[in-house]
Amino acid sequence: MADPFTLEHRTYYGIEKTLDKVTAGFSTRHGGVSQEPFRTLNLGLHVNDDEVNVIENRKRLAEAIGTQLNQWVFAHQVHDNQIQKVGQKDKGKGSNSYDSGMMGIDGLFTKERDLVLALAYADCVPIYFFSKEVHIVGIAHAGWKGSVKGIASRMIETWVKEENVPVESIHIVVGPSIQHCCYEVDQRVISQVDGALERVYDRPYTSTENSKFQLNLQQLNKQLLLKSGVLEENIHITDLCTSCNVNEFFSHRKEKGSTGRMLGFIKLDQ
Ligand SMILES: [Zn+2]
Repeated sequence: MADPFTLEHRTYYGIEKTLDKVTAGFSTRHGGVSQEPFRTLNLGLHVNDDEVNVIENRKRLAEAIGTQLNQWVFAHQVHDNQIQKVGQKDKGKGSNSYDSGMMGIDGLFTKERDLVLALAYADCVPIYFFSKEVHIVGIAHAGWKGSVKGIASRMIETWVKEENVPVESIHIVVGPSIQHCCYEVDQRVISQVDGALERVYDRPYTSTENSKFQLNLQQLNKQLLLKSGVLEENIHITDLCTSCNVNEFFSHRKEKGSTGRMLGFIKLDQ
C-alpha cells in the first residue's frame, strides 16, 4: 500500500487525504533559518537554538499549512503517558515559549476546529488519531518509554470512555521515526517491551550478534493499539526512518543528541 506520507511542501510531509476534514503532517528539516546543528527548520524551543529563529521557523510551517502560529498548541513533553484534551482557551500555548506549553503532557486531543495540535520529535514515534464518525483528532509522542507505558492505548480508552467514540471508527497513522533498521536497544528496554505486551505472540524486535536487540517501535505500538480494539485495517504506518534519512529529518540518535526537532501536527478543518 502507498505510504501515508507525501512531501507536500519543502517544510513538511502531509498525511494522505484519506482523512476527510483533517490537516495533518510531519515537518522536514528544510526551509528554516536556524544554523548548525539545527540547520535549518528546527522547531523545538528546548534545544538551545536561538529562540527568534525557532519562532520564525514555526511561523513558516504554520503558514505553509494555511494557519497562524497563535492557533497552535504545544506540550512540555516528558516521555510519559499523560494526555490532555484541549480547546479554544489553550490556543497559542507553548507557541512562543517552551514553558507555556501543556505541562507534563505527551498526547493532545481536541474536538474543536482550527486548533493545531503539535508535538516535537527527533526519532520518537508520532501517532496520529482521528475518527471517521466523531469530530475528534489527537496526536501522541511515543518513544520507547511512552510506548511501553501505553500512551497510544490511553488515547483510545479516553476517546471510547469519555468522548463516546466507537473504537471501530478510530483511524491511526504512525509517522516518521527511528525504525527497526536503526534502533538498537538493550535487555533493560526489551524487558519492559515484553511486560507491556504480555501474551502477544509476535515480538516486535530481533536479537543481534552482540546480545542487543533491534526494536520496532511502530509494530510495538500497533500491537498495543490492536489490544485496545483498534481495527488492523485502520492502522497505517509510514516506512520513513528518521535515522536513515538524516538529510531530510533530524535524528537524535544518528546525530548523537546534538540536533533539532521536527513537529507532528494535526487539525480539524471543519
Ligand atoms: Zn533506519
